[in-house]
Amino acid sequence: MAWLKLTSEALYLMKGGTNLFIDKVDLRDHNSEQEELILDVPRKWFQRGDIPKTMVIDVGSTEKPEKIIDTAFDSAAVFSKVVKRADWQAAAPTSRFEIVDRPNFIVIHHTDDANNSSNGTLEGAKTITKGIQGFHMGSERRWSDIGYNFLNTIGGTLLEGRSDSLAEAIKGNSVRGAHAATDNGNRSPGVANEGNFSVNKTMPNEQWESLVDLCAALCASCDIDPANIKGHRDFVSTTCPGDWLYQQLPRLRDRVAQRLAQ
Ligand SMILES: [Zn+2]
Repeated sequence: MAWLKLTSEALYLMKGGTNLFIDKVDLRDHNSEQEELILDVPRKWFQRGDIPKTMVIDVGSTEKPEKIIDTAFDSAAVFSKVVKRADWQAAAPTSRFEIVDRPNFIVIHHTDDANNSSNGTLEGAKTITKGIQGFHMGSERRWSDIGYNFLNTIGGTLLEGRSDSLAEAIKGNSVRGAHAATDNGNRSPGVANEGNFSVNKTMPNEQWESLVDLCAALCASCDIDPANIKGHRDFVSTTCPGDWLYQQLPRLRDRVAQRLAQ
């Protein structure tokens, strides 16, 4: 197996699966810590025995596209409500993470906690976030920090997840996470919503409104098209974010677009 080292500019242009440059070829993580990726090539390439010997990746222009979101939405007001890591006594990350200056997506998750353990309180929100960090950094996962960039509990409390996620979101960037199992997904902010929405067929209004607010703030700040609010299962085979929440994504995109237009 041969490895092709891709520059950050190439990855920047290929992120989001635009397929402009590598039609119907998907990139996925092989080893995210090493930034190694796997190209999934179509089976038809191999059917006639003419296996390509050379792959040319045309990264085209490295200039950023024009800003697409034109809004007066007050992202700062939303970000100011986000509970910072120090407030939930986050453990320090064990490595530093790539800063992505133009995330394409927002990736919606659930925490897979059918018991709604936070009880809708601020203290409960901090406790479950600390618990998720412990799980992600513990012996089962051994990640360098909590995988999600943001969390949203049943009481509508928004919390900062992965280190520097809030400060970078305010600047329009995303901190590379470990939440979507693909390069495309991990380079975009991941938002974990407390609950299991395959079991729970609804979401408390406070939580829904906070989700709309956070998505609008991220779209405005990071210049993400609300149409690019995706579910975890859009990136990899998983039940996340649960059937009910996944079915609400069209409504979420509409509500975020409305909020940005106000
Ligand atoms: Zn997920």
